[in-house]
Amino acid sequence: MYDKIKLSYEYNELEPYIDGLTIETHYGKHLQTYVNNLNALLEGYGEFIEGKTLEDILSNTNSIPEKIRQGVINQGGGVANHNFYFSILSPKPKNAPEGKLLEAINNKFGSFEAMKDKINNASIGHFGSGWGWLVIDERGGLEVITTINQNSPFSINKKPLLTIDVWEHAYYLKYKNVRADYVKNIWNIIDWSKIENLYEGYVK
Ligand code: MN
Repeated sequence: MYDKIKLSYEYNELEPYIDGLTIETHYGKHLQTYVNNLNALLEGYGEFIEGKTLEDILSNTNSIPEKIRQGVINQGGGVANHNFYFSILSPKPKNAPEGKLLEAINNKFGSFEAMKDKINNASIGHFGSGWGWLVIDERGGLEVITTINQNSPFSINKKPLLTIDVWEHAYYLKYKNVRADYVKNIWNIIDWSKIENLYEGYVK
């Protein structure tokens, strides 16, 4: 059985950047549906999931029994991606990276601002539903990517550091069709202390 993370903030605490009703619906309804669907799919597959995190499973999608493979990619990705998304948001975030992570960002993208532009452009320009990401690639370097639907970076051998959910349900109540404003505003609540910790854990 897999579950959603516990939020470290109240639904309305990310306002004005993301409104309370959006978080309540996104976390309480959309994410819960992915959790329920995933656990229903995995009924009878206890041996397969024994001892595995969802990230373990998504890292090796070929090992998923064929009958439920695409379902687990969709529903399991939905759980893992959302848990990750909600975990890096905070009403009192550290607004910029420092130390080793900042160094890596400067080396790869030129500056923190240039990296944000790259993620913004990728996320805003992504056609249809999906996710914008900052990831660690196969060789340990930083990379900006997008994934479609609920596809997980773990499935293509990349480790997520930051994500922006660009499914309409993530922003439609407040921002309507204007995805760009949601994407630009989310930087106000992305907590770089969490991302620094992830980075240090991955590159140590
Ligand atoms: Mn979502």
